[in-house]
Amino acid sequence: MITRRSMLAGLASAIAVAGCTRAQSVEREWLIYTTLLKVRATAADQATANTCCQRVFDTIQTQGPDLYGFGDGELSRANTALSQGQSVELSDRLYDLLRRADVWRVASGGRFDPAVGGMVAAWGFDDLTRPQTGGVPDQAAIDRMIAATTTGYTFGGSRDLQSFDPAVRLDIGAIVKGALLAEAIAAVADNAVERLVVDLGGDVAVQSMAADDAFRVAVANPSGGPPSALLTMRSGEYVMTSGGYARYREIDGERYQHIIDPRSGWPVPPAAATVIGDDPVHADAAATALVVGGPKEFSAVCDAMGVDKALLIDNLGTHLTTASMRERLI
Ligand code: AMP
Ligand code: MG
Repeated sequence: MITRRSMLAGLASAIAVAGCTRAQSVEREWLIYTTLLKVRATAADQATANTCCQRVFDTIQTQGPDLYGFGDGELSRANTALSQGQSVELSDRLYDLLRRADVWRVASGGRFDPAVGGMVAAWGFDDLTRPQTGGVPDQAAIDRMIAATTTGYTFGGSRDLQSFDPAVRLDIGAIVKGALLAEAIAAVADNAVERLVVDLGGDVAVQSMAADDAFRVAVANPSGGPPSALLTMRSGEYVMTSGGYARYREIDGERYQHIIDPRSGWPVPPAAATVIGDDPVHADAAATALVVGGPKEFSAVCDAMGVDKALLIDNLGTHLTTASMRERLI
């Protein structure tokens, strides 16, 4: 069993960097599961900057496990209850997140769908702590999961959740990083931090006390190598990226990546989507929906999901951008 302590695979030492005349910057890094968390805080003194970095890490480390479909956190326990035909009463936090996710499931036409968990598990991508095993699922298993995903779940009175099919399994891996970034930023809102950059595996939050402050953020290159784009971001914004290159497996020489089209039950072709917005959960859901939609559906999914700053890079390296995103490209 994974304990919270063992999630922390490594803790780099704090580096105090002399900033401009008075401000002090502190940079810290941690590995959480397979995700690198990098925090850079600038404050009047080093202790304040350091406390801010630590609070970001503590929030993400303690709040994460309840949102994963593996381990013994709240979502995992909810999935067990649903598989036994029981309804579950959720915490306010998980209930609110699933309600919001459900709005985007509908808006995205099912491209983003939290009920995709059974398919994600069938393809072996459900547990970040285990290497993926098994081959291509047989079509009957995929069809079974399509049926369960389509039938789905419903919210009852109070904070109840009920599935219509015991095979329904929820997976909010597509919005976990957005949710955790929002919570981490809220946790340091009362800190006297002048400037803050939180990079959670390439998904980035930026905050500054100076309203006209601008940040440069690099977007990872899906095929490795130098960043595929450099973006300007403003305080209070988040940049969320979803990409098959981040997690994939090879079966009989074919590469299958971890984002599944809930309509077919199959992993989608490699692509990477980046969305800038001031609601990280929304941007995160939209990035996943854009990868599922692929280049052909880029504009339609942007409209449906209500995002105006989006970039999609397909497997040939072609960039599709919205007009507002083009203004942010450096
Ligand atoms: P992201 O990198 O934000 O797109 O999140 C990918 C993760 O979301 C996967 O590892 C799965 O846990 C989950 N997932 C995969 N496909 C979908 C989908 N179509 N809708 C919602 N979640 C998905
Ligand atoms: Mg996402």
